[in-house]
Amino acid sequence: MTMQLLSVASEIYPLVKTGGLADVVGALPAALASQGVAARTLVPGYPSVLARLGKTKAVRRYDSLFGEKAALLAAKLDGLDLLVLDAPAFFARDGGPYGGPDGTDWPDNWRRFAALSRVGADIAEGAIKDWRPDIVHVHDWQAALTAAYMRFGPAHAVPKLVTIHNLAFQGRFAADIFPALGLPPEAWGVDGVEYYGGVGYLKAGLVSADAITTVSPSYAQEIRSPDHGMGLDGLINGRIDRLHGILNGVDTDIWNPAEDPLIPRRFSGRSLGARAGNRRALEEAFGLDQDDAPLFIIVSRLTWQKGMDLMIDAIDHLVGLGGKLALLGSGDRALEGAFLAAADRHRGRIAARIGYDEPLSHLMQGGGDAILIPSRFEPCGLTQLYGLRYGCLPVVARVGGLADTVIDANDAAVNAGAATGIVFAPNDPLALHGAIARTARLHRDRPIWQAMQRAAMRADVSWTSSAARYAALYRDLLAEAA
Ligand code: ADP
Repeated sequence: MTMQLLSVASEIYPLVKTGGLADVVGALPAALASQGVAARTLVPGYPSVLARLGKTKAVRRYDSLFGEKAALLAAKLDGLDLLVLDAPAFFARDGGPYGGPDGTDWPDNWRRFAALSRVGADIAEGAIKDWRPDIVHVHDWQAALTAAYMRFGPAHAVPKLVTIHNLAFQGRFAADIFPALGLPPEAWGVDGVEYYGGVGYLKAGLVSADAITTVSPSYAQEIRSPDHGMGLDGLINGRIDRLHGILNGVDTDIWNPAEDPLIPRRFSGRSLGARAGNRRALEEAFGLDQDDAPLFIIVSRLTWQKGMDLMIDAIDHLVGLGGKLALLGSGDRALEGAFLAAADRHRGRIAARIGYDEPLSHLMQGGGDAILIPSRFEPCGLTQLYGLRYGCLPVVARVGGLADTVIDANDAAVNAGAATGIVFAPNDPLALHGAIARTARLHRDRPIWQAMQRAAMRADVSWTSSAARYAALYRDLLAEAA
């Protein structure tokens, strides 16, 4: 029998996206369908979501959801079965999902995402006529409180799973919000929502869930240490029997170089020559010199996590080796300014586009030689997976999902035809410089480089095996609850 799954998240591609979370939440339902799991996804009714919905049906109305009027709308879009929380007081705002146009967090985020989570738990309790989930899967801190509401309510026996996409974002708020959350008094405490004297949404989810997953096996190990555990390593170690690392996949229809409408020349591992056309288009788009020097790309949030400060320091070295760089990203103002200044200093060799541009990111993967990802930590990472699929070889720090998905071009791997990128450690300036130099050297050896590109493009970055792992985990949890 088909298993009914409720997935709860604050982002979903193609409706609202600030990072990899949206890609995963958008792609998983289709991948699970072939595993006998029918997923419905609960998301906030941001303006960008409501604008795209088309026909909707109100399946539940709230006169007072945390004091505000709201409606739960059912809709189908792009193969997604959506439940959208239309609560204008919480979500009808300009700006991003979590903050205003100036980038500062909304002061009532605790209430906005408590409301989302409350509704998730309501659905598990049977709030919608004719549909009730067998299992509930919630993503990141914004949805994590769903697990706590379920645990302390009538749906406590419904299996619930929390996925950590990034432990750096935990949803921590002052203790005085607790009474307004509508949780029973016993939910306060170290085994509940209390977290270092305040309220921790992700923490509450992690102690309440029947299983915890994170998005790569290596990250699942790393978060057990104080270095990467971000204050939650003790808790995670205490629940180690419940922790699973399951790699993200990519939507291989959207990211398919043989059929991608967003690149001028489509190609496969057998027609790598066609990439040259994309490369020229990319150089033109960024105003870079047109030559055959190694063309590095970066598509990233510009933050400390992503190692972008290290990258700034490596730019002169990259140019010194004859390389070029096209960067697309936004984030820390200081880093944005530093990349723009580097582009000014090295016209034709370094170019930076500050902003978010999905179509341009496809052209970059389709035309670039190598994608640089010097992250300090990386739960899974998606851009290296797109790079593999497009033969834009990943140059990555050996952390988290980057370590799990890229095979370093050491001699043994190159000789075996298995190498798919360049992996370096530790993540410091010296190793990053070395990795850039190694990439430039490999790039000069056309047969080896192309063999690596073909190996990269053969790598399975689809959801197939990971969706099977999620489905198996759901089945285990259901069996345990029976
Ligand atoms: P994170 O979620 O930590 O930001 P991931 O690598 O998991 O990192 O996912 C990032 C996603 O966002 C990828 O799909 C990537 O292509 C996309 N992305 C990041 N920055 C930009 C940008 N400036 N323009 C277009 N896409 C971007």
